[in-house]
Order: sequence, then structure tokens, then C-alpha cells
Amino acid sequence: MKKNILCFSLLSIAVAGHANAQEKVDAPKLTEVWKPVPKIVSPGATAAAAPDDAIVLFNGNQATAFVGKDGQPVKWKIADGSITVVKGTGEITTKEKFGDCQLHIEWRSPETVKGNGQGRGNSGIFLMGKYELQVLDSYNNSTYSNGQAGSIYKQLIPLANASRRPGAWQTYEVIFMAPRFNEDGSVKIPATITVIHNGVLVQNHATIAGSTQYIGAPSYEKHGDKEPLSLQDHGDEVSYRNIWIRNL
Ligand code: MG
Repeated sequence: MKKNILCFSLLSIAVAGHANAQEKVDAPKLTEVWKPVPKIVSPGATAAAAPDDAIVLFNGNQATAFVGKDGQPVKWKIADGSITVVKGTGEITTKEKFGDCQLHIEWRSPETVKGNGQGRGNSGIFLMGKYELQVLDSYNNSTYSNGQAGSIYKQLIPLANASRRPGAWQTYEVIFMAPRFNEDGSVKIPATITVIHNGVLVQNHATIAGSTQYIGAPSYEKHGDKEPLSLQDHGDEVSYRNIWIRNL
């Protein structure tokens, strides 16, 4: 009898041991998630090149994705793979509307330096046509911190000044989350933005306080989930190239 009990006990330990071993084998699987499977996106040949699911807004040849002031054809100058502000012709605006997005854009301020402060290589990227990511020649050019390159104009100071010299191409990688509004027009979730300037993080999931204002505090006014993006004519010959965007 004693022998039987001993055998049973040993068997129980063996079974329990086996179960524990099996649990150990299975444990990592409990935290594996197999669905959904992320969609396949073919990246560009370089990080700057558009992946296959991006909407190319400017490829160097034509600005057909944009319209000029009052819906007129774009009057900015296209040459050598870039598009350059022509003073006084006004902003250019995308025909398509965008909300949450990832944007790649390259820009260049004039090599020949004219003016200073805000009057030097000034343009801007207006996300949803309302929230300005400042474009400025901020290379050895003093101005108010919340108005330099990489700022959200008059709201958010960039975390660093990563500006290249005038005439050099620069990049912005942008991740923008559109604001959400309540039925009554009040803000449910404000817009946020992350910006990498020439490989340097300058806005880190920063909260935007409202549409860009030259005078006075920014504030929100209810708008659509998607709105056109525009590029500013501030009178300086700033150029853009290789502009692509992905809807998020
Ligand atoms: Mg500007």
C-alpha cells in the first residue's frame, strides 16, 4: 500500500512537472498577437523617397496637386526639380484634403541672404490650411523663438535649431494629428504635431493651441476632419521639392 502511494505521488509530481514545463513553453505565446497583420508598404529607395502608399504632392515637374490663390493655376516657378515662391502670387493649396497625416517636405531658403529676422527666407507649411509649421532661414538669424524654423508659429518653440546654411536643402518629417471637435464646436482633442528637422526632433507630440494668428492668442474654430494643406507666400524666394504625404 505504501508503495502504491509512493508511486502515485511520484506520478503526480511527474505530471505536475510536465504541466509546468508545458506552461512554460506556452507562456510566451499568451502575449503573441497575430491579428491584425499590418498592411505591407513598400518603402522608397531612401527614407526621403515616397513609399508606395504616399500621395506625391510635388515630384519636381508639375504642381498639379495644388491650386494658387482664388483657385487659379499655380504661379510659383518650377525649375530644376523644385518649386519656388513667386512674391505676390499668394499661397498654394492642395486640391486634396488631409487630416491625420505623415508629411515629408524639403525646403530651401535663398542662398543669397536678404533681410533679417522674420524677413529672411520666410515661408510656412499650413497644415489643414490653419496651423503653421514655420519655414524660416534660422541659420545665424535672430528672431523670436516661437517664430523660428521648426516652430509652430507663435505657439511652440522648437526643441533645437537644426538649421542648415542658406541655400542648403532641409527636410521636415511631420506627424500631425488633426483636432477633434464636439458637436457644439468646442474642442474635444486638440491637434498634436511631431516634427523632425534635418534628422533632429524639434517638436515632440506637441499640442497645438489653435489656428495660427499673427496678432493675439490662437484659438480653435470647428472645421472638417480633412482640410487642404497650403504653402505660404511670405515674399521670400523659398523653394520646395519632394513633397509627399500619407494619410494616417
Ligand atoms: Mg511663415
